[in-house]
Order: sequence, then C-alpha cells, then structure tokens
Amino acid sequence: MSLIESISGVYKKISHAAMKAGRDPSEVRLLAVTKTVSPELVREAVDAGIRLIGENRVQEASAKVEALRGVIPDTVSWHLIGHLQSNKARAAVGLFDVIQSLDSTELARRIDRYAGEAGKVQDLLIQVKLAGEEGKSGMSPDDLPVSIDALLELKNIRINGLMTIPPFFEDPEEARPYFRWLRELRDSLSGRGIELPELSMGMSGDYEVAVEEGATMVRVGTAIFGDRSY
Ligand SMILES: *Cc1c(COP(=O)(O)O)cnc(C)c1O
Repeated sequence: MSLIESISGVYKKISHAAMKAGRDPSEVRLLAVTKTVSPELVREAVDAGIRLIGENRVQEASAKVEALRGVIPDTVSWHLIGHLQSNKARAAVGLFDVIQSLDSTELARRIDRYAGEAGKVQDLLIQVKLAGEEGKSGMSPDDLPVSIDALLELKNIRINGLMTIPPFFEDPEEARPYFRWLRELRDSLSGRGIELPELSMGMSGDYEVAVEEGATMVRVGTAIFGDRSY
C-alpha cells in the first residue's frame, strides 16, 4: 500500500467512527507519528496532506526538523509526544509547536521560563496517567485540578488540553473506558471554568474507539508507515 492509500484509509476510518458517534469528522485531526521514520518519508507524508507530526525524542526530532527546513511548508506543526527530560526542555521549546507530554508542574515552570526567554508562548497538553502504571509518565487525575491552577499562573505557556496513553490491550474496546475517562476529566474541569478543548488520544490499534469517545487528535504511526524497525 502506498503512503497516500494508508493515510486516506486512516482518514476514512476516522470519519466513519466520528459519524457513528454523531460527531463532525472535521473535529478530529490526524497527527502522523514519525519516530524512526526517515525525513524523506516524512516529506512524502506531508506531500500527501499531513500537517501534524509527532516525535517522541528531542534529538531525533531536531535532526528531522533541520533536514526538512525549507523542504516542507512551515504550516506543518511538530509535536513532542514522548517524555521530556528537564535537561532537554530548552531544546524542546526551541523545536516544538506543541509539547503533549507535560507531566509535572516543575517541568511546566522550566518550560515557562525558557519560553519567556525565547519570546514565545509554548502550547502544551497535559499528559494524564489514568492507569497509574509504574514507570510511565503523566500526571495523576486526582492531582489535576490543583496542578492546573498552578499552571494557569504561568504566562508563557498555554494549556490546550489533555493527552493520554492507555495501557496496551489486544482488544481496543478495553481501552474505551480510559478514553471516556479522559473526556469526562476534561468536561469536569471545564465545569470549573478551565477550557481544555484538545483531547489527544488513540493510536494505530485503537484510534477509532478514541474518536467515538471524543478524541480531537489521534496519534497514528504504524497504520501510516508500517511496523517500526526496532
Ligand atoms: C509511538 C507512539 C504513537 C503511535 O503508535 P502507533 O501504534 O505506531 O500508531 C502514539 N503516541 C505515542 C505517545 C507514541 O509514542
């Protein structure tokens, strides 16, 4: 299958899932996850219409941004979707339009400081760890209301929404309660006057379920580029 075919296949499934849930398919954006994918292939994906790119490592992203500067339009936006170490925060602020993996208020303070120095307002999503899995990053849902109040004090960051990675299941239906939980969290916060429109949830194995549950952005790698070689 060509890249164009696999991308249009994903768009079709997104539309179908959205309509099944009574949603407007245009509410859902597709982010192509390009970790381990060559700059050449990223360019092809952009030629095929992709405008959101997700990388999970600062260094790998940096090399690709560099390789593609002037080659792809600057309307393409780069998202960090992997854990951000505090010593890479300055580089991340320089590179990414959106950091989806904000997982602590300390990291937010650091990003806020670097963004201020760079004269930028950094867009962020808060990564929420719903299953409480050991070793995975993300804020706990219980801490969210208090943490968000602290984040709203910071003037050089903008919190646009929430992101989550549910535990892996063979059957995507088992991920549904996590997607629903993230949406309900967002809704309960908006009841307190905190607007978080973006819900980044769903990957190759489960994005249709995520769309049915309210995803506004799905992060898809394998279903576009094939299996990663690692
Ligand atoms: C790799 C990755 C994805 C994409 O996973 P696929 O199963 O290849 O679609 C999505 N989100 C995050 C955070 C990832 O690291």
